[in-house]
Amino acid sequence: MTTLGSIEAGGTKFICSVSDENLNIIAKERIPTSLPRITMPLIYQFFQKYHPDSIGIGCFGPIGINETRKNYGKILATPKKGWVNYSFLEEIKNHINVPVFWTTDVNAAAYGEFKLGAGKEFKNIVYWTVGTGIGAGAIYNGKLLNGLSHPEMGHILVRRNQYDYIDGVCNYHYDCLESLASGPAIEKRAGKKAEDLSKSSKQWDMEAYYLAQACVDVAMVLSPERIIFGGGVSKQEHLFPKIRYEYNKMIGHYIKTSSLDSFIVHAKLGDDAGTIGCLLLAKKRLKI
Ligand code: ADP
Ligand code: ZN
Repeated sequence: MTTLGSIEAGGTKFICSVSDENLNIIAKERIPTSLPRITMPLIYQFFQKYHPDSIGIGCFGPIGINETRKNYGKILATPKKGWVNYSFLEEIKNHINVPVFWTTDVNAAAYGEFKLGAGKEFKNIVYWTVGTGIGAGAIYNGKLLNGLSHPEMGHILVRRNQYDYIDGVCNYHYDCLESLASGPAIEKRAGKKAEDLSKSSKQWDMEAYYLAQACVDVAMVLSPERIIFGGGVSKQEHLFPKIRYEYNKMIGHYIKTSSLDSFIVHAKLGDDAGTIGCLLLAKKRLKI
């Protein structure tokens, strides 16, 4: 029997899982993200118990993803102490000697949604996660889209709303999408957490204005058949009609899509998208 492994490496926790080849979960463990010398041995111990045949890793970015570059397999600039330039892939391979598929957390979730979630019928999708940060993964012609590095769509520059006076929350850009539309940006603007705002709050119109720009930009550049939103902030279902309304105004009838109700949609796999994506990528790595 083939056993698949998944590592979802996040800023606050690592979720390690193993499944059978049909993705039925056999074991799952949450390991807090502290320093590598504390976190990593716990990961090795978990997989030594279950001996997976391959592992899919979805790691918080930015990471070195291009095999021709020196930084391949490393975690790059991150505010997380101890992880800057950490050779994650090499360390995993040194301790768990199986084939590994290495990608970003959002790419893994995008792959999960593409294969088994809201993107199942298509070959070209964009999957956004809107939570503590914003990121996106694209499937282009059935494949994860990467280049010099992985996409960093959460940092696309957006046009500011004329009534938006907050400084934004991105340390690198004043006017990027993550800076103005992530959960912490909403909290900064509203003075309370996004999940505590009422559905009728004007904050949601502001949020939709930014997320619609994200949709317009990827529609223009990547021509996806469907745009999918996951992550904590996207749990607000009432946001979707607002995003579609703003998108419709902004796109100016320039691109013809199916109905917007089926073009801009909520993710289907919920919080499992990352794990499912990693397991599928582990399976893909074995070519089975
Ligand atoms: P993370 O990005 O840290 O993995 P989440 O996707 O849950 O985790 O994102 C957390 C952010 O999303 C926080 O800023 C939080 O305020 C916001 N958030 C979480 N749940 C909801 C919700 N139901 N509605 C609106 N915002 C939410
Ligand atoms: Zn930014």
